[in-house]
Amino acid sequence: MSSALDRVLTNDALRDMAGFRAFRDGHTYFEPDQVYGLEEIDDTVSAKVLGLHEYHVKLWADGVVMGHACSCPVGQGEDICKHGVAVALTWLSDRNTVPVSPDALQRELDPIKTITTFLATQD
Ligand SMILES: [Zn+2]
Repeated sequence: MSSALDRVLTNDALRDMAGFRAFRDGHTYFEPDQVYGLEEIDDTVSAKVLGLHEYHVKLWADGVVMGHACSCPVGQGEDICKHGVAVALTWLSDRNTVPVSPDALQRELDPIKTITTFLATQD
């Protein structure tokens, strides 16, 4: 499945567009799964984001850039808001299955191993 968004929405493009702050804040909505109801109809992605309120986000390809709109005050303006970033990240992660590398898995496991090893030495 290919869509017009494929051409304009990449991780790098999103980071450039959003700037550091919105990109970082978008992650705080994306990671705990606060994006839901994502659907793509006629090359427009729409989704809801649960924040202080429920926000409605739309993303679409606007020529060579990504168009965006959100029902929050920031999202009405020129700049993409954190909710838009969160939806874009969700869309990206749904499409690119990035396998967990053995190294990354090892790093995740290490602290637990360290703690269990430590506990085993205690009474
Ligand atoms: Zn917003």
